[in-house]
Amino acid sequence: MKKLILSIFALVAALGNSHAQNSVKPCIPEDTKMEAEIESRLAKMTIDEKVGQMCELSIDIITDAKGSTGGKFLFNNEKVNEVFDKYKVGSILNVPLSVAQPPESWRKIIYSLNQKSLKSFGIPEVYGVDQIHGASYTLGATFFPQPICQAASFNRNIPFRVSEISAYESRDCLIPWVYAPVMDLGRQPMWSRMWESFGEDCYVNSEMAAQAVEGFQGTDPNHIDMYHVGACIKHFMAYGVPVNGKDRTPSSVSERDLREKYFMPFKNCLQHGALSLMVNSSLNNGIPFHANKELLTDWVKNELNWDGMIVTDWADIDNLYKRDHIAANKKDAIALAINAGIDMSMDPYDVGFCTDLNELVQEGRVPMSRIDDAVRRILRFKYRIGLFDEKTWNNPDKIAKKYPDFACKKFADEATEFAEEGEVLLKNNDNILPLAKGKKILVAGPNANSLRTINGGWSYTWQGNKTDELVKGKYNTIYDALCNKYGKDNVTLCQGVTYKNSDNWQDENAPEIDKAVSAAADADVIIACVGENSYCETPGNLEDINMSANQRDLVKALAKTDKPIILILNGGRPRVMGDIEPLAKAVVDVFLPGNYGGDALANLLAGDANFSAKMPFTYPHHVSSLHTYDYKPCENLGEMAGSYNYDAKMDIQWPFGYGLSYTTFKYSNLKVNKTDFTADDELEFTVDVTNTGSVEGKEVAMLYSSELVASISPDNKRLRNFEKVDLKPGETKTVTMKIKASDLAFVGIDNKWVLEQGEFVMRCGDQLLHINCTQTKHWDTPNI
Ligand code: BGC
Repeated sequence: MKKLILSIFALVAALGNSHAQNSVKPCIPEDTKMEAEIESRLAKMTIDEKVGQMCELSIDIITDAKGSTGGKFLFNNEKVNEVFDKYKVGSILNVPLSVAQPPESWRKIIYSLNQKSLKSFGIPEVYGVDQIHGASYTLGATFFPQPICQAASFNRNIPFRVSEISAYESRDCLIPWVYAPVMDLGRQPMWSRMWESFGEDCYVNSEMAAQAVEGFQGTDPNHIDMYHVGACIKHFMAYGVPVNGKDRTPSSVSERDLREKYFMPFKNCLQHGALSLMVNSSLNNGIPFHANKELLTDWVKNELNWDGMIVTDWADIDNLYKRDHIAANKKDAIALAINAGIDMSMDPYDVGFCTDLNELVQEGRVPMSRIDDAVRRILRFKYRIGLFDEKTWNNPDKIAKKYPDFACKKFADEATEFAEEGEVLLKNNDNILPLAKGKKILVAGPNANSLRTINGGWSYTWQGNKTDELVKGKYNTIYDALCNKYGKDNVTLCQGVTYKNSDNWQDENAPEIDKAVSAAADADVIIACVGENSYCETPGNLEDINMSANQRDLVKALAKTDKPIILILNGGRPRVMGDIEPLAKAVVDVFLPGNYGGDALANLLAGDANFSAKMPFTYPHHVSSLHTYDYKPCENLGEMAGSYNYDAKMDIQWPFGYGLSYTTFKYSNLKVNKTDFTADDELEFTVDVTNTGSVEGKEVAMLYSSELVASISPDNKRLRNFEKVDLKPGETKTVTMKIKASDLAFVGIDNKWVLEQGEFVMRCGDQLLHINCTQTKHWDTPNI
């Protein structure tokens, strides 16, 4: 009998859900038993319960702000009752009291919210948290390099492991859902969130983010186990290219580029089973993403046959009327967004969403079928991440342990190794590095002695501004790590420029450059640590991408001492510093390497570890020349003969993919299995890489393609694959990189994919190979 009922439900489910209506293979295979349970629940839910599930509120709204003193969190019980009993809200987000909590506190909070929610209407709430480089809203958790630094490693295992450990530590706190990974292409270096992405390239973002999804979720997206969490890929899409460089301002990307580049990582992650997606807060060519039905419903849900859940970004339905003026009031804005395909509204402070949506359904302005579709997706998400399974995880007494401690030594060691693989050596004149022991070192600059600056935003707090206050002494700053490595007696700290750490992250104290210059008298070498203080989102907006004047003045003054300078760049985006770069003997960009990034740097500077990272973005040389490596030919013409001197030059500081090592590598024998190919072929490239130096090192072999002639002006070059290899001195390894010939296709004049007949030059290291597509192929399907 039970079986019969289940199969009836399964049949109803099949009729009701998107899989059955779509001929495209679903991104996540259907679990018929789960679908039957979802349908059975849905059938019993009231409209109030349904719209409540679609609402996500900030924990602030149910916090007893006055009662929560001394860091101890208290609920406002009256508000809790209202939110769950009256509004039946489905999700809560954000860190309590706006600051990282100990694991016990997380467990208590999430457990009691779930108990309340189950008691009120029988469905557990889902708690979501921003954690992009470890369980960074939990005290004591392991903090890893930020995504930009992970990307610089060009090692796919790093985002995988970072996310896997982060999931483990999150779930240990009962946190089941994280707003990560971020796959915005960081192609606008002014943008304050560049560091949250895996850099400027669509393929790198696509590869790294898909690994992160698997690290977070494990291998079975239908049944996330007790060591994993649901991922929320974000921010869909083109968020990283605001025209004016400011956060949450418009992009102007063509449909062709959206399809070819910005959609690529999202598509890959959805096809790898990502369970939820967050929408770009901004707008493209005048259309807010939150109201774009074509992108949300057609591209994401229908074309890919993806049955996951779409959540808004922070208060973004409000933005449709308050900011963007495409709706007259909140209710109209809700109708636009929900009809466009939003399933859950992150409406942090306003339960009014529930009332308005309820009315919209009664008025027939939002069809019941849309509500059912959204709620089905939300319930499916909750089932998939195990929220209905009390036995496995959602009881603090039953948390499963796989490792000895919450944040064990093994994780710290991995975090150090990952930072070593993510810090890029950009210059090393006269082999000044590695720096021998016994040298007297002056450590200068505002980033020399700060855990705040090496972690960046989303660290303990949103802006990352309390890091030193909370954990100074528990981890090593760059200065601490250098003292440990070179001996305290050999290392002097005199910063010359310091941050104010006021409300504005950019504020610096009155410089004391003379002091630093005097301190340099006793030093053999100066390590100048410059860059940015931490920030996040719109507060991180910039007016000037130049590195701060004080910091550049400091380096100029230190250079006059004639002591060699090693410049350490530490920040979330490239700050233009073309005037001081020539004054340094060596330059290392550490980006935001996390709590163990100081130790990693000391290991690298001392030669106890070797550099192997490469630039994940193009570092600009001039403030008004911001480029990416996949530029069009007309952007790099140089001087032209005749009266019209085109003079477009790629004058950049360091190119994408650039990075040095303590050893050298030679490339030879680039070969391919087929020099003539068609769209259905698989191309297998091999290249020999030899370590020609005297120390062990890792090299990233990068395979680029350049199409010689195409109906749309082809990109200068495109990265098609990469592989990192470890080589002992004198050792040669053959690296194999496969691509589908269709990977060489582009989105053509009609916004459809095409692979055109003609020649491509493939590059790996200094090796070139010509290959030839013998037949043009047009695709009619939107995705290939
Ligand atoms: C950010 C998102 C984040 C959300 C929730 C927003 O302001 O844009 O990246 O996930 O807040 O904290």
